[in-house]
Amino acid sequence: MKFELPKLNFSYTALEPYIDAQTMEIHHTKHHQAYINNLNKALEDAPELGDKTLDYLLTNLETLPNNVRNAIRNNGGGHYNHTFFWEILTPETGTAPGNSLMTKINEDLTNMATFKEAFSQAALTRFGSGWAWLVVQEGKLSVESTPNQDNPISEGKFPILGLDVWEHAYYLKYQNKRNEYIENWWNVVNWAKVTENFESAKA
Ligand code: MN
Repeated sequence: MKFELPKLNFSYTALEPYIDAQTMEIHHTKHHQAYINNLNKALEDAPELGDKTLDYLLTNLETLPNNVRNAIRNNGGGHYNHTFFWEILTPETGTAPGNSLMTKINEDLTNMATFKEAFSQAALTRFGSGWAWLVVQEGKLSVESTPNQDNPISEGKFPILGLDVWEHAYYLKYQNKRNEYIENWWNVVNWAKVTENFESAKA
């Protein structure tokens, strides 16, 4: 089984002006596709993993053969993270967390404004390339960040929201102003999907 590039639920122009069309197209067709190509190539060197799901691979990294572990960590992570990222974006601006998630944000992270500030800080201060995440772990919400294409599921956490802060995600429009990218990105978060992720993390 080969991994394939998922289709987006919206056009490349749909997230304008917050995320520009050129960035979206290159990010999807070049960067995401490259992770998939390299993941498939790595799996050719480990045919015994051919029937494993991406979830399995990323939650069992330490059991993978040495010759492919890093390639799967980086490129499997890249495929997983980007597939996840496209789904938590929407052109429909002004959506909000559902009641269940909003209640939990207030409970674990003080309130929506405090949570957004903490998440933005995690995204802004991630040195180099990586991601900021809102995760569920042992029934509690927390904000964290990971380097490169690492995903919290490899550490037994369940991500429900994520932000790509690799320069390829924003440089064409925002250049060095990562803070402006982060601020604008909040407008296109698909809170319905994030709430759905939260509901399935609880189950
Ligand atoms: Mn990316």
